[in-house]
Amino acid sequence: RQVYTSVGANPANPAAAPSPPELSHRLRQLQTALANDEFELFYQPQATLADDQLLGVEALIRWRSPSQGLIPPAEFIPLAERSGFIIELGEWVIRAACQQIKQWQALGLPPLSVCVNLSSLQFARPDLISRINNILAEIGIAPKYLGIELTESVLVQNVDTTMAHLQALRRLGMLISIDDFGTGYASLGYLQHFPFDILKIDHCFVQHVHTNPTNGAITTAMIQMAHSLGLMVVAEGVETTDELAYLKAQGCDAIQGYLLSQPLPASQFIQWLRRRQR
Ligand code: C2E
Ligand code: CA
Ligand code: CA
Ligand code: CA
Repeated sequence: RQVYTSVGANPANPAAAPSPPELSHRLRQLQTALANDEFELFYQPQATLADDQLLGVEALIRWRSPSQGLIPPAEFIPLAERSGFIIELGEWVIRAACQQIKQWQALGLPPLSVCVNLSSLQFARPDLISRINNILAEIGIAPKYLGIELTESVLVQNVDTTMAHLQALRRLGMLISIDDFGTGYASLGYLQHFPFDILKIDHCFVQHVHTNPTNGAITTAMIQMAHSLGLMVVAEGVETTDELAYLKAQGCDAIQGYLLSQPLPASQFIQWLRRRQR
């Protein structure tokens, strides 16, 4: 398991919420961290259930602070979103993921698609597509190797921009996943309406799916519904072989979770991949 250093806001304890001066101090820290190249992407693999093939990897950001240690996204993404800094940080994420794809290709690894998480603020920008295109061209990789993950919040805001962007990304050949499905406000109708490739079932439904009847029923229904709409299903946060067996029996397509691997720094991910290939 990863060990994180806890700093800053504690969402579980509103009494400990930082005051505005602390927040602007924190935002300056984030800006400095970006300038000092302290952010890092970790990579977590996804594997198919039918034949245990590597489907792709999700890129997950961390802040490796020299003074505070490894800081998880939950401790800075919310402020980055509230302040708008996520636009800049999100662009860094896309570029870093593309550079990693390029590096892995240069090492002769089998072609891997890397999915990045886009925030709704990024997705609302009219220049999103040209920015992504510029990065792909600058680094020199095909769009099909870059995927994006969106949460439901993107869909309920700004339907027209969202639809136009999704269609453009689809035309580029990028994989589009709907993340954390079932935890937000989007209805099933959204799934039919927008051009997604993959539905990701949130960890909260996957947890103890084999013994928790509610989670079992929800997960089974989501898999059936996604399949009837032609979407592939990835279950997130799979931690046990019991959960895996249940998901496989229900026809889930792929899994991601600690059972397979926790998110790893790029160098460790390559070692994981090589161990697996042997
Ligand atoms: P997410 O997109 O739902 O990412 C999955 C989270 O589940 C990750 O947490 C991952 O480490 C964790 N996870 C994976 N397998 C397991 C498991 O088996 N059990 C459990 N309990 N957890 C598992 P992480 O890396 O801390 O990221 C948290 C959230 O921060 C992400 O949730 C995503 O919403 C956000 N985030 C991460 N990177 C980025 C980024 O580059 N941009 C944006 N906008 N958001 C990001
Ligand atoms: Ca995600
Ligand atoms: Ca998720
Ligand atoms: Ca989540």
